[in-house]
Amino acid sequence: MTLPNFTYVRPKSLADALGHLRSPKAVIYAGGTDLLGCLRDGVFGAEKLVSIGLLDKLRGIDRTPDGGVRIGALTLIAELAASGLIRQSYPALARGAAEVASPQLRNQGTLGGNLCQKPRCWYYRGEFICLRKGGDKCYAYEGENQYHCILGGSVCYITHPSDTAPALVAYDAVIRVAGAKGFREVPAEKFHILPEESVDKETVLTPDEIVTEVFLPPPRPGWRSSYRKVRARGSWDFALAGVALALKFRSDVVDEARVVLSGAAPIPWRSREVEKFITGKRLDGEITARAAEAAVKEAHPLKNNGYKVTLFRGMIEEELLKISKA
Ligand SMILES: Cc1cc2nc3c(=O)[nH]c(=O)nc-3n(C[C@H](O)[C@H](O)[C@H](O)COP(=O)(O)OP(=O)(O)OC[C@H]3O[C@@H](n4cnc5c(N)ncnc54)[C@H](O)[C@@H]3O)c2cc1C
Repeated sequence: MTLPNFTYVRPKSLADALGHLRSPKAVIYAGGTDLLGCLRDGVFGAEKLVSIGLLDKLRGIDRTPDGGVRIGALTLIAELAASGLIRQSYPALARGAAEVASPQLRNQGTLGGNLCQKPRCWYYRGEFICLRKGGDKCYAYEGENQYHCILGGSVCYITHPSDTAPALVAYDAVIRVAGAKGFREVPAEKFHILPEESVDKETVLTPDEIVTEVFLPPPRPGWRSSYRKVRARGSWDFALAGVALALKFRSDVVDEARVVLSGAAPIPWRSREVEKFITGKRLDGEITARAAEAAVKEAHPLKNNGYKVTLFRGMIEEELLKISKA
């Protein structure tokens, strides 16, 4: 298909950008790596593209006065992956960014776009008028569902595609959003929403809101973190399974835990079962195996994605053992 006709504007201020977003069928254009594909494939339409590329205040990675970090929404994924500050203090986020797509896409795609990208379900991206596109059924439920979710599915079985979001949830990041009424701050964990809450949008954003920046709390002593992504092939690909870990150790015992799965559910999925199970324990072979079992206890695989249960089990066990020895 070809790109539809649209108006293209490049406002110089946030206020102007927000003004443009109030027009009917206006959408934000950041790096365009996801948006242009969606428009070309007719996943959704747009009458006005509001480029935010001139909003320089939305760039940069800086220390905040409290010792945390502020990351502008226009920060390139490649910048995140290469930042010494992020690599040292928030390694799961740097790893997640490094795992996104290909070098070309990481040099064009932004953090804001990464968090707000559309799901990769082939029915949604294809010619099917599925529930998410205003139709009356989820084709994945009885169709080719090998890449779909095993947790959190209800009326729609997408998996959340971002490789940076799981780490942001694990680190308790806060996402700042600008809208007509000013700014609001949304915990990363509450930013993405399940299909049962809304089947035609993936985030809490309204169409006239812009993600401006992300705030990470100061790194805390005793915390270790990591991100692991498993994909079907060595080249660029979305996560079949992934896990972001942020664990606080006291001696060799887990004191606090955040375990967030990617490729498992329609949102970055906090595995509270694993978090609860490992807290207060030493991560030896038996505990990690039982924790991994707990992660998939509530899984409801579809006809073709039962392999994900085994995949998650093995991956979580390996990653917990690895981080216990880090
Ligand atoms: C071949 C290919 C492979 C990919 N592989 C991966 C992968 O492995 N992992 C992964 O995580 N992603 C992957 N992506 C997805 C995605 O393109 C990138 O992650 C990128 O970061 C998106 O950023 P962008 O700036 O190009 O977004 P855009 O395409 O400009 O925007 C994406 C969406 O977000 C909205 N948006 C953009 N910025 C904002 C903002 N500041 N506030 C509110 N809404 C906003 C847009 O309106 C649009 O709907 C892949 C994409 C492609 C094409």
